Amino acid sequence: MSLNPKRTIAELKELRALTGDENGAQRLAWTDTWLEARNWFKSKLDGLPVEHHYDAAGNNWVTLKGESEKTLLIGGHLDSVPNGGWLDGCLNVLAGLEVLRRISDEYKGKPPITVRLVDWADEEGARFGRSLLGSSAFAGTHSIEADRGRTDRDGVRLEDALGRCGVDINRFPEAAHEQANAAAYLELHIEQGPVLEKLGLPLGVVLGTKGVERHAITFHGQEAHSGSTPMTARKDALAAAAKLALEIRPIAMKHPDAVCTMGSVKTFPGIVTAVVGRCECTLDQRDLDAKVLAQMYREAQEASKHFAAEEGCTVEWSRIWNIEPIPFNPTLIEFCDQSILEVAGVSHRLPSGPLHDAAEVARAGIPTVMMFTQSLYGISHNKIEDTREEHLELAVPAFDKLADKTMHWIQGQNKA
Ligand SMILES: [Zn+2]
Repeated sequence: MSLNPKRTIAELKELRALTGDENGAQRLAWTDTWLEARNWFKSKLDGLPVEHHYDAAGNNWVTLKGESEKTLLIGGHLDSVPNGGWLDGCLNVLAGLEVLRRISDEYKGKPPITVRLVDWADEEGARFGRSLLGSSAFAGTHSIEADRGRTDRDGVRLEDALGRCGVDINRFPEAAHEQANAAAYLELHIEQGPVLEKLGLPLGVVLGTKGVERHAITFHGQEAHSGSTPMTARKDALAAAAKLALEIRPIAMKHPDAVCTMGSVKTFPGIVTAVVGRCECTLDQRDLDAKVLAQMYREAQEASKHFAAEEGCTVEWSRIWNIEPIPFNPTLIEFCDQSILEVAGVSHRLPSGPLHDAAEVARAGIPTVMMFTQSLYGISHNKIEDTREEHLELAVPAFDKLADKTMHWIQGQNKA
């Protein structure tokens, strides 16, 4: 059984037919359709000399035991957002399965090191608002109390939804045992953005996941009658916020991959006959470099104070959430670059704006890298999400080469 990328595409279509409808993929974590997808996946393991089990957080593990216990991990997620695409997450799992088949075949069921494929539980967090649930349990970064009481739209508690699938949230920390002997982690994913498409490239190396600074910013001015208050006497909180909304563009554009977004603006009293007395907005800033992120945060704060003063207002900031940038492993980045060059002739390095399970694995201290394949129209989390089949047919062998190089790297460490 040698590597067969066309089989990966056929299996992706099979999964789409089984777990999607006219609105897209419906493999929402902890639902019957998701369990059906997992059972379907399990049926694909028939005839492979592998061990299969679910860990304490519901992650789905397939192990091909090697001569050495040192382990290469390959991962993805079968869960989708509601009305999702046919590739997000499951391309990783099914390309990983194809690589596992090739390795099993090449080494007659006993490779020099152990190879494990993992389908992470609830990567999307679409139902309970908590992304990377299974991989954070694996990484030991998950805090049970923060998530136990979460509810979905229908009031179902996270703890109960997990229980229905045989997962006890109190046992989540046990999932960290799966880290044993892990020497590297690889993940293939669609880009979910427009960069590779714009460059006309099928594949790219992911340098890491961007750090995020997310803040609520409130400008305080003076509510006043829109008829009686002269223009020169106003303390217009919206005017100050509007200046900031434009200023975050030059703040971000000093750096090649940085992004800043003011995604929400609310005005109070929010009526047509009053100057805005209070304006509440949000700012989301991202970059792969912690220094750049800190600089953008500082500059946005300074700009907000400056604009508030110009408009006779005051401003206050409160942090909603933040996460540090997570750079991937330099050696694996080189392997990924070489693998893409060998298969596609041209490669590109880019950071990931979205977070991925790979970020959690890297946080656990396991050398990690991701490979991106081009997304058409830069669209994901939607039924129109797509990638050209010829690009998928390049992605599988490029990812396989990456797995091969990484295996030899791990084997070399073994001898040393
Ligand atoms: Zn994904």
